[in-house]
This record gives sequence, structure tokens and C-alpha cells, in this order.
Amino acid sequence: PAMAVALGLGVLFGVLSARSRRMEGPVADLDRALARHEFKPYFQPIFDLETRAIKGCEILARWQREDGSVVPPMNFIPLAESSGRIQAMTWHLLERALSDLRPHLRANKDFKLSLNVVPKHLLSAGFVETLRRTVLSARVSTRQIVVEVTERDELDDLARAAAVVAELRDYGFRVAIDDVGVGHSGLSRLKGLGANTIKIDKFFVDTITLDASTTTIVEMLVTLARDLHMTVVAEGIETEEQVRALMACGVQEGQGYLVGAPLPVAKFIELLGARCNK
Ligand code: C2E
Ligand code: CA
Ligand code: CA
Ligand code: CA
Repeated sequence: PAMAVALGLGVLFGVLSARSRRMEGPVADLDRALARHEFKPYFQPIFDLETRAIKGCEILARWQREDGSVVPPMNFIPLAESSGRIQAMTWHLLERALSDLRPHLRANKDFKLSLNVVPKHLLSAGFVETLRRTVLSARVSTRQIVVEVTERDELDDLARAAAVVAELRDYGFRVAIDDVGVGHSGLSRLKGLGANTIKIDKFFVDTITLDASTTTIVEMLVTLARDLHMTVVAEGIETEEQVRALMACGVQEGQGYLVGAPLPVAKFIELLGARCNK
């Protein structure tokens, strides 16, 4: 019997240590962070290049750890995506952002809130319905929400992606294609998706004042967008020179450190207030 007990304890110990081993590692860290609400939305202003009025903002995820350090999205979004945690994280960020900005959203019906959604999530069952329910239960208009989706392999099934985009637009949501110009965004696919907005990647903003071929590409994207009744947002604007070059190409809206970096909610609301009182 002593043998059996020892064996039993050994097995039990094995099971327990296997379990505790499973509780370690980066995915367990993510789960703990989700449970502790350590993922916070930061907000980056999107502005009119000419008037500098703030037209909306993009939600950018930050992981605020217990020790006060802030982890950038590059260090957790890929893992969240591969481990299937991205959905829960995205809904948490949206709920949080809606509650953070609700007074501002309700008082300024033209103000738009942009949310990054990975293609796999966009195409998953129930996405549109959950989005709609979340936005409506915050008593915010669907017209004020922009879904930003990066065009990647997962959107290869253009017909399916276009159907989801059409469904979103039927409900009043807006859709932006993110990081256009890098990666997979072929022109026919930009067209076929049926989005409202294209976001030109920072790479082009970085090179527009240095490289004539960038100007040609941006002008081409603006022409395409105009034909398809899409708006254009340029991201990563740091200098006035870049603003002038982008405006010369016909770009109307932008985002970048020149007007504002991604900010925690209190700082972002301060920025909005400072602008409105001018
Ligand atoms: P993105 O969607 O292209 O976001 C723009 C990135 O450029 C942000 O980096 C932003 O902080 C940065 N940026 C904006 N203006 C400037 C500028 O003037 N200069 C410079 N140097 N950088 C600027 P961030 O916040 O580190 O996010 C990186 C990427 O992580 C995002 O790229 C997006 O793809 C992803 N990401 C962030 N939050 C989320 C999220 O909630 N969900 C998903 N699925 N992806 C997210
Ligand atoms: Ca984005
Ligand atoms: Ca982007
Ligand atoms: Ca980008």
C-alpha cells in the first residue's frame, strides 16, 4: 500500500507540475493580463491636414504591466493573434475606448473612432453582430466607428471579405484598409474590398520628401481613392514639410507625432480640449 500511495502521489505531483508548467510562459502571461485588464487603449488623433481639426482617433493597444512598464503592441499582438487571444483583447479595447470617449462621441457626431481588427477576426462568425451589439449598448452611433483592417493573406478570399465589409457598411460602420502600399494590397483588391478609406503607410510619408517615385505612388493612390469615393489618411506624419508634400498630392487627412502621438485617455481628452478652446 505504501508503494501505491507513493505512486499515487508521484502521479498527482506529475499532474500538478504539468498544470503549473502550463500556467507559465508568454500565453499564460497574456491570459493573466487580460484577466487583470492590463490592456489599455491609447488614442492617436486623426486630423485634417489643412485645418488641423481633429476628426477622430485610432485606438492603439498598450500593455500596462503591474510594475508600471508599458509594452508596445509589436511585442504582444503577434502572440495574441497566433494564440487566439486577439478577439478577446480587441473587444476589451473597444469597450474600454467607448466608455473612455463616450461623452465626446455623443457630443460630436462627426468624430470617428478607429479600431484595428485582424483579418481572421473580421472573417470569424458573429464578428459583425458582436461589434454592432457592443457599439449600440454604449449608445454610440455605428457611423462613428471605423474598422481598420490590414490587407494580408487572410483576405485572399476577397469575396468573403467584401461580403463582411458590405454587411458592416449596411449597418453604418466605416471600413479602412490599413497600411496600403506595403505588402499585399494590389489595386484590384483595394477596389474589390469596398472600403471607405485607405490609410497610406508611414513608409511613403517617410520618403515623400526624398523620393520622386513616392510622390507618383501617393498621387496614384489618391486618384484611385477619388474614383472609388474613398478618403485617404496618411500615417506617421512628423514634419510640416511632409504635410505640404501630402497636400500637394491631394491627401486630406493624416495622423502622426506632428499633431499627436498615441496618448492615454486623460491626455487625449486634454488635447481635444486645448484644440477646441483655440
Ligand atoms: P498601425 O495600425 O499602422 O499603427 C500606426 C503605428 O504608427 C502606431 O504604432 C503608432 O504609434 C505609430 N505612429 C503614429 N504616428 C507616428 C509618427 O509620427 N512617427 C512614428 N515613428 N510612429 C508613428 P504602435 O502603436 O506601436 O502600433 C504598431 C502596430 O501594432 C499598429 O500599426 C497595428 O498594426 C498594431 N496594433 C496596435 N494596436 C492594435 C490593436 O488594438 N489591435 C490590432 N489588431 N493591432 C494593433
Ligand atoms: Ca491601424
Ligand atoms: Ca496603419
Ligand atoms: Ca503602419
